[in-house]
Amino acid sequence: MSADLSEAKIPPRLADIRARMETVLLENGRALDAAQLLAISKTKPIEAITPLLDAGHRQFGENRVQEAQDKWPDLRAHYDAIELHLVGPLQTNKLKEAVAQFDVIQTLDREKLARKLAGLKDESGFPRLFIQVNTGDEPQKSGVSPAGLAAFYDLCTQELGLRIAGLMCLPPQDEPAAAHFVLLGKLAAQVGLAELSMGMSGDFETALALGATHIRVGTALFGARD
Ligand SMILES: *Cc1c(COP(=O)(O)O)cnc(C)c1O
Repeated sequence: MSADLSEAKIPPRLADIRARMETVLLENGRALDAAQLLAISKTKPIEAITPLLDAGHRQFGENRVQEAQDKWPDLRAHYDAIELHLVGPLQTNKLKEAVAQFDVIQTLDREKLARKLAGLKDESGFPRLFIQVNTGDEPQKSGVSPAGLAAFYDLCTQELGLRIAGLMCLPPQDEPAAAHFVLLGKLAAQVGLAELSMGMSGDFETALALGATHIRVGTALFGARD
């Protein structure tokens, strides 16, 4: 009976995504805790976020530093152990704010940013870092090119002393994502990284089958964005 009551508090979309994650992880022989669901709450108001927090969900992502600063200090004051990921582009003039607000920055995508981050790396609560890879080498998209990843990783880790947790990608919209997920996995293996942030509302099951450790789901959890 009590289990039913707590189940009833879980928003249906969250329950659905969790169930689908579980199915794919099991089908692929992966542990149920091998991947984490990041609820991408960009553009969504606090009232849309609190039902997930009330259901015990703690991992979220935002794509703008300013929006995160507007929403999350308040939420952090009411809920403990929140883990907030930055999944959008980071301008160097917002760096201090980003380092203070985010637990994870997934969009380390260029040398200038790496150098500036390195200057802050000894601050307490310095975020974990993912390198964003532009797997489709799209000119309009941020991210390190696959061909330059190994050198960029060496720059970050050896020259600048940054610790890198994993890789992130945002595949081209007009191509099947699977090839990009496979590529991200290969690149991570080449540099010895274990964490892969890949897969969104439309393709997270594919990403989980191909080794994603973090999926970033917005629309499927919160409904369409305006
Ligand atoms: C918005 C966004 C997502 C979530 O996309 P949905 O298709 O709504 O699930 C994931 N990753 C990044 C980087 C985003 O900007």
